[in-house]
Amino acid sequence: MTATSHLVTKAIVTGHTRGLGAALVDALLTRGIDVLGLARSNRAPVADAPPLPGSFVEVELDLSDSERLAQWLSGDTLAAFLHGADRALLINNAGTVGPIGPCAVQPPADVARAVTLNVTAPLMLSSAFSAATADVPDRRIAHVSSGAARNPYAGWNIYCATKAALDHHARAAALDGEPGLRVASVAPGVVDTDMQGEIRGIDEARFPLRERFAEMKRTGQLASPEDAADTFAGYLLSDAFGETPTADVRSL
Ligand code: NAP
Repeated sequence: MTATSHLVTKAIVTGHTRGLGAALVDALLTRGIDVLGLARSNRAPVADAPPLPGSFVEVELDLSDSERLAQWLSGDTLAAFLHGADRALLINNAGTVGPIGPCAVQPPADVARAVTLNVTAPLMLSSAFSAATADVPDRRIAHVSSGAARNPYAGWNIYCATKAALDHHARAAALDGEPGLRVASVAPGVVDTDMQGEIRGIDEARFPLRERFAEMKRTGQLASPEDAADTFAGYLLSDAFGETPTADVRSL
């Protein structure tokens, strides 16, 4: 690198079309980072949005379909996007809180889709990302975790189990000591997104804490996606990232 060249940073963000993921994309683009988004749909253009310094591409992919994801990963899109990066980031953000309720009311096919989206896809992407960035000196994987990974909640046994799996993946992967690779599972706080709307809309019989979340919304206690994403991105890019395998945006 010459004195005049700048660090090329490239980021893959899953679930980039709405909520925290969309705000993370903006936080990265604003910092001059190139982003590849993966979700089932494309992100709707924002009218009169100012141009941002980073470049943005997106791919439509259902991450709850692991065969389709494996097929996509066997192609060259990921490697082509990452080519030329001095620093590479993977943010495993896409996730679902459902199915909500005790075991007996969970449709088994929904359980399979949730586990695939929340766990299988992040782990597959982490493997592919690590292989594709073997020559990149600085590479970082951030799983988007939840307080539910660390505390059990009635009605959320699938969500709690899948987020705890991401935390434990980060703890174990960090021990492998792959050169230049930092891994951490980061809880973003309670963020005002469609997912929170879904939580408030669920029957209390399935989710006894529903009223607590409704109260948080009424009293303005939810973080904005922009604030949560800005703190998350700042942490991901900091020297502190990866020093501990789990973290929480609320205590940074
Ligand atoms: P959200 O508003 O529901 O957005 C979810 C994103 O994931 C969307 O961009 C969606 O895009 C994508 N997605 C959903 N299913 C997908 C699939 N099958 N394949 C590919 N992409 C898919 O959720 P959010 O609140 O922003 O949550 C983002 C992350 O933060 C999640 O991992 C969540 O567990 C975590 N989290 C959120 C909160 C909170 O309070 N909101 C708290 C703790 C942790 P498409 O629909 O276009 O596919």
